[in-house]
Order: sequence, then structure tokens, then C-alpha cells
Amino acid sequence: MNIPEKLSLGNLPTKIEPLEKLSKVIGGPNIYIKRDDQTGLEVSGNKVRKLEFAVKEAIDRGCDTLITCGGVQSNHCRATAAVAAKLGLKCYLVLRGNEEEDLDGNYFLDRLLGAKIKFISKEEYQYDREEIIDNLKKKLENNGYKPYIIPMGASNGIGNFGYFNCMKEIEQQEKELGIEFDAVVATVGSGSTYGGLLLYNKYKNRDSKVYGINICDNAYHFKKVIKEIIDESLEYVEEQIDISEEDINIIDGYAGLGYAISQDEELEFIKYLARLEGVILDPVYTGKAMYGLAKEIKDGNLGEHKNILFIHTGGLFGLFPKRNMMKL
Ligand SMILES: *Cc1c(COP(=O)(O)O)cnc(C)c1O
Repeated sequence: MNIPEKLSLGNLPTKIEPLEKLSKVIGGPNIYIKRDDQTGLEVSGNKVRKLEFAVKEAIDRGCDTLITCGGVQSNHCRATAAVAAKLGLKCYLVLRGNEEEDLDGNYFLDRLLGAKIKFISKEEYQYDREEIIDNLKKKLENNGYKPYIIPMGASNGIGNFGYFNCMKEIEQQEKELGIEFDAVVATVGSGSTYGGLLLYNKYKNRDSKVYGINICDNAYHFKKVIKEIIDESLEYVEEQIDISEEDINIIDGYAGLGYAISQDEELEFIKYLARLEGVILDPVYTGKAMYGLAKEIKDGNLGEHKNILFIHTGGLFGLFPKRNMMKL
């Protein structure tokens, strides 16, 4: 497949490590972790892989300004702000929140990196986001800039190639390590981490299964969203690969109290894993998903697998604003 070109922004390939102690405690398949939390520091986490493709497209189109959106603690927005600073582009972030937000975590880094920030309310974010972003784009164009819009989480056809490539990387690492990962598990927030992994898997007819654990909305919603993202990718490469909503395996039930809202058992699990393995998960995404994965294994639901690879998609900075909720 002739996929679009990309920039080189992340520290790739990322390591794969066994979680021996966790595997032993839970019993069941061997659990491994792919350290996509270590794709970088400022530009860290899973969004880097997607931005490598999206920002390349922006530059090829002669754009000088990136616009994107997300929650106030969005890892994607922070990574975009860092890429923009690194490449000398302007960056506008449309954040769900208000002027009174604590200057903490990712939002603090957005400001440190010099991104221009526009806050909008929860309702505006839900219903009028695209219009608000379009208006911002027009305003910038009238002032002589060339803006490029990256959607939430860079979850579109171009961003999707980030995890298409990641699955290819995993395939290579399987050969080097002499291990076959018969299940790959990723957190689902906006869909293209999962979408990219699945697209490569289908393209190569790999035997392994890809599972997504959603941390907001539900399986029904994400099956639709992921299918749309994959279809958009296929238009880029003019390929036809049959992927139906049945191919999309979403493990529902771990969104808890909703997007970015934590509950005790999730935070306890983050603390537990930090002390057991020296691996720090984040409260919004990987903490919920890994908590869910451990629970599913304990309940015997993934018993047919031998080696499960969980992708640590990053998000460390999101933990700091939750410091007062953690019982240390
Ligand atoms: C954005 C994000 C995810 C979710 O990935 P999507 O591709 O949006 O589904 C998972 N983990 C972290 C840390 C993230 O920032």
C-alpha cells in the first residue's frame, strides 16, 4: 500500500516490555506493553504518530498555522502545540473549558509552548465546534495566514496512518523478539489509534485480534466512527479493503463516570501498577483501559490469547491535575 509521506517527529520504534509481575498476579495470558508513552517528551504519546502524517500534509499544502481542539487537558492539543513550536508554525487551540482553568498539566504546557487558546463551553464544544473552528480559520485567512485544521485527536483519514505504521512496527518487533502478539489492545478516545491498527491488520490478513477499550461514549458510537475514519484512509490510498463494523472489537463498560472523570478504583489501579511495575498510566485513557483489560483477563474473557500487547498511549501530564484525588 502506498501510504502518504510523513515527518519524523517521534522516537520510533518504541520499546515493547513484558509486564511479568502483573501477568503473574492476574494469571492468564502474558501481558506486554508497548511504550508509546515514550515517543517523546513535549511531543509524547500516541498523537505524535498521527501528527507525523497530518502536519506533513499541512506543510505540503503550504500552511503556516495549525488549528485543533480538545478538552482542557488534551494530550493531543499539547502535542500539536509542541510540534508547531518545533517547526515554526503558529498554533491555535480551541479548548473545552474557561479562563479560570488551573494552569496545570497539559494546559500549562500549551501556554508554555506559546499556543493561542480559545475557550468554548461544553455545549458549544458539542454542538457548534466545527462552525467556531471554521470561523477562526476564515479570520486567520483574512489576516493573511494559511491555517490547517486537525480534527479532535487527529482522528481522520490522514491521522489514521500513524497507527497503521505502528502495527507494521509491531509486526517487525514480533520477528525480532520471537513473540507473536495474538491480541493487541488500545484505548479508544477518538478512534484512529484503533482504526490504524485494525486497517494494517486487515490489509495484511494478520491472525491477531485488535481490541479497543472505550473511555467515553459506547461501542455502538465507536464502531461507526472508526469505520468512517478507515474509509477516509482508504480514499487516500485508493485501495479497497473490506472492513465492516463487525470487525471492530470494542470492549465496552470501562468509561466509568465519563470522559476525564475518575473514580477510586481507576486511580487505585494506576497507583498499584506504578508500584508493581514502575509504569505510570494516565487517568483519562490508559488508566481506565488497563484497569478494564486486567478485569477482563481476571474474568476469563480473553482466555483464548497467549500474548497480549497493550499500547501505552501516554498522557502522563494529565495525572498532575488529579493529584488531590489520589490516595497515596
Ligand atoms: C488521545 C489518547 C488516546 C485515544 O486515542 P484515539 O486515537 O483518540 O482513540 C489514548 N491515550 C492517550 C494518552 C491519548 O492522549
